[in-house]
Amino acid sequence: MKYKKTAIIFGITGQDGSYLSHFLIQKGYKVIGTTRSKSGRNLYRLKKLEIIKKVKILTGVATKLNFCKKVLNKKIDEIYYLAGDSSVLKSFETPEISLKSNTEGILNILRILKTKKYKAKLFYAGSGQFYGDNKKNFYNINSKINPQSPYGVSKAAAYWLIKIYREKYNIYCCTGILFNHESPLRSKEFVTKKIVDTALKIKSKRDIKLKLGNVDIYRDWGWAPDYVRAIWLMMQRKKPRDFIIGSGKTYSLKDFVNEVFKNLKISKKNLETNVSKYKRKIDLRGYKANIADTQKILKWKPKLKFKTIIHKMINNELF
Ligand code: NDP
Repeated sequence: MKYKKTAIIFGITGQDGSYLSHFLIQKGYKVIGTTRSKSGRNLYRLKKLEIIKKVKILTGVATKLNFCKKVLNKKIDEIYYLAGDSSVLKSFETPEISLKSNTEGILNILRILKTKKYKAKLFYAGSGQFYGDNKKNFYNINSKINPQSPYGVSKAAAYWLIKIYREKYNIYCCTGILFNHESPLRSKEFVTKKIVDTALKIKSKRDIKLKLGNVDIYRDWGWAPDYVRAIWLMMQRKKPRDFIIGSGKTYSLKDFVNEVFKNLKISKKNLETNVSKYKRKIDLRGYKANIADTQKILKWKPKLKFKTIIHKMINNELF
């Protein structure tokens, strides 16, 4: 089979890795991806998207320099780095894992690209979390970086490393500063997925309650397939630069819950908020993306809005 390009995705088994694989296959790419798991237990998203047989899976982790040296070669046109611990909450429990997984692997790849043996372009999945708390204003690419979690620190460190390697060594590398994005393929450990899954159980007459902590927090929520399209567009530019990828709109967690309950027509008596067990002592009250630049320069616009995203999560509609 003749492919247009070859891409490698570090973290192919995750929500974004799976959607990006699907997107690239449709564009005529050969897709290679990495996972740490030898058992294949986390290939379920690739199976759900019916692309498991169309991707080549390599087992290993980018934090090992030798693994990166083994898997990168001249045939690879684009490298997408989506691997790492993606949970803010977990980063408070195991900050060392967050720091290591979100920075060391990308640094290994940058060091290899610095040798100029390969010309591949490199994308890194950054996070709007590194801007910190700000309910009032929209963040743009020049906003002050002020991380408030070990996860935020790790993403900021990688962002700066990429900037330095781009400017000093003339490497095509860029960071997409991603704001929250969801889909039916979101991990269960994230609150949006917990809300939808629990509400569906309530709907099917299970006598349970949805228990949440503070629902008065605001997030900028988008649709994962929209975001992988933006990620790809960033890599098609002649000159690399960083972009903010978000929806430009914010809603509270309360809005999210209300929409799910309304959709499923279930009673609020099944809801308990401010449960101390789920209250996070350190959480961002809100942050939102200014996507004017991204829309103009990348000619990208998120297709799905808040209510449709929730509808699709409830109905398990993958696209
Ligand atoms: P997921 O958690 O769904 O996937 C992360 C991937 O990284 C998995 O495929 C997993 O692969 C791998 N991984 C997990 N922990 C580690 C670790 N300790 N060391 C090495 N690899 C690890 O994340 P998403 O797909 O949702 O997100 C992709 C990237 O985008 C992440 O870097 C995330 O931080 C970032 N991002 C995501 C946002 C979102 O809302 N989804 C918002 C902002 C940023 P395996 O277990 O198979 O090795």
